[in-house]
Amino acid sequence: MKEPYVAIVRGWPCARCQATNRRGTQCGKPAMQGKTKCRNHGGRSTGPKTPEGIERIRAALWKHGHRSLEGRKKETETRVKVRLLADSLRVLGETEIPQIRGKWPKGYEPITDLAGIEALVKRENS
Ligand SMILES: [Zn+2]
Repeated sequence: MKEPYVAIVRGWPCARCQATNRRGTQCGKPAMQGKTKCRNHGGRSTGPKTPEGIERIRAALWKHGHRSLEGRKKETETRVKVRLLADSLRVLGETEIPQIRGKWPKGYEPITDLAGIEALVKRENS
């Protein structure tokens, strides 16, 4: 656990640098004003400025893309498909699964009769 404060600058408590040094312990210097790092550990950095630099940082922070715009769209499509499948099975009397609860995903219209299933099949085949 990193110490947030340390009283070293003329006896006044101040924010302590949150960086880890080469020994593996927390840096002992005070952080720069309004920052979380000392000047030796990136406190003077103002972040990437060029488009290439910004893109490089973005790529370095990318973990799995599940929360990206494309990932969220894909997730919504999957949720719609699961609901439509459950609706279809319920209309056909093949399952006792109750209506899926929770907020409707965007683009979902519940199927309540055979005409809805026919429309879905027509839509999927086109
Ligand atoms: Zn430091």
